[in-house]
Amino acid sequence: MNTDTIAAIATGMTPSGIGIIRVSGEDAFSIASSVFHKKNGNALSEYEDHRAYHGYVHDNGSVLDDVILLVFKGPNSFTGEDTVEIQCHGGILMMNKILELCIRSGARCADPGEYTKRAFLNGKMDLSEAEAVMDVISSQNDLALKNSVRLMQGGLYKKITKVREDILNEIAFIESALDDPEHYDLTGYPQQLSERLLVILRDLEKLSDSYDDGRILSEGVRTVILGKPNVGKSSLLNILAGSERAIVTEIAGTTRDTIEEKINIGGVLLHIIDTAGIRESSDVVEQIGVKKALDIAHEADLVIMVVDSSEVLSSEDEEILSFIKKNDRKCVILLNKSDLGSVIGPEEIACYTNNPVIVISAKDETGIEELKEYIVSEYSKGELRFNNEIFISNIRQKEALSKAIGSLLCVARSITENMPEDFYSIDLTAAYESLGYIIGEQIGDDVVNAVFEKFCMGK
Ligand code: GDP
Repeated sequence: MNTDTIAAIATGMTPSGIGIIRVSGEDAFSIASSVFHKKNGNALSEYEDHRAYHGYVHDNGSVLDDVILLVFKGPNSFTGEDTVEIQCHGGILMMNKILELCIRSGARCADPGEYTKRAFLNGKMDLSEAEAVMDVISSQNDLALKNSVRLMQGGLYKKITKVREDILNEIAFIESALDDPEHYDLTGYPQQLSERLLVILRDLEKLSDSYDDGRILSEGVRTVILGKPNVGKSSLLNILAGSERAIVTEIAGTTRDTIEEKINIGGVLLHIIDTAGIRESSDVVEQIGVKKALDIAHEADLVIMVVDSSEVLSSEDEEILSFIKKNDRKCVILLNKSDLGSVIGPEEIACYTNNPVIVISAKDETGIEELKEYIVSEYSKGELRFNNEIFISNIRQKEALSKAIGSLLCVARSITENMPEDFYSIDLTAAYESLGYIIGEQIGDDVVNAVFEKFCMGK
């Protein structure tokens, strides 16, 4: 691990009231002494922990800014190292000049996420807490924020550590019994282990299942609008977004590529992806769009299919309907252009699939409330479910959970197949290690780097 002293602007790069330059590492105080002077003109001789000092940043003997210097002595700091934060006036030029001074005095520009990485490496937090720091910064709704704060406070760490302890107890018992059969009796143990495994598995599976709901809550419901050209997909998107985001036109197939938009509907964040219309096309650009539409629809949380109900269903509509039937994603079918007089109704759609159908007119904006109500009723359930629970929101944690679950299922199989007990402990150990991965135990530099490079500068 690098122990050199790092510096970065911790606040946003927009002019604001206050800007913060953070300096962390073994030279933090000596760097502070060379850039910061007290009001009487002297450098600080002593750095009292958790103190704020009022003074000036000096550049070549002249005052650059009137600032507050905050002092945190390691290990009582965010990073665990000696740290100072210089609160200056929040102009971009000012912040950059002070950062430059710190660099000239011996600091190095911090990499994105390097402060949190140091906090993790110095044992100030586990990996799930460190990841949650970034989640807190990027949360876009109340629930995601609440969950991120719970994770940051160690919610996942505690849960995982408890399960690991339980697993470790089993491993210890098996190992002891195998080493010392006189004092430890394994009669009836497989049955007891099997029962305890069921409880652990239920817990871990619930946590693993929380991934989709968690992702939906934090990133939004991945929504794809499907439909052949000219049925009103872009018009619908415009109404939902409340602005002229997509280009609406009467020429078939102009929405060539995807347009993405995040829209808040009654507290549910929709991450809408509008795609090219589906049809037999010789146009290469459009073919790419169509393929992309179907690909995305495979992974969407919600598919909204738009049909022009003023015309009879075409073979293209039928093709999309049969795709929807095969695709096991949640889907709602909108019968649009009802203002023109509908020639098809929900009964016709019911011949193809039993997904819910809503009659709308994007032109007159009728049926839109019903669509919004449907979305809220489908997706705010997760919110209720997670009111007092934590959910995981990253794939790294989900993969580690799946591995652990896989290993525990192997233990369960060994029990049913009457395998010798040392088989149990091999898979129990594997589960223990996979769970350790979530909190950052026994992970390589590559994983650590991959986690922290997603962070923003100064965090
Ligand atoms: P897309 O190709 O599926 O994205 O369809 P657009 O949103 O571009 O709409 C195609 C045409 O249908 C435009 O002229 C829209 O104004 C029109 N249109 C969309 N929705 C309605 C509707 O509910 N009623 C009527 N009468 N026209 C609509």
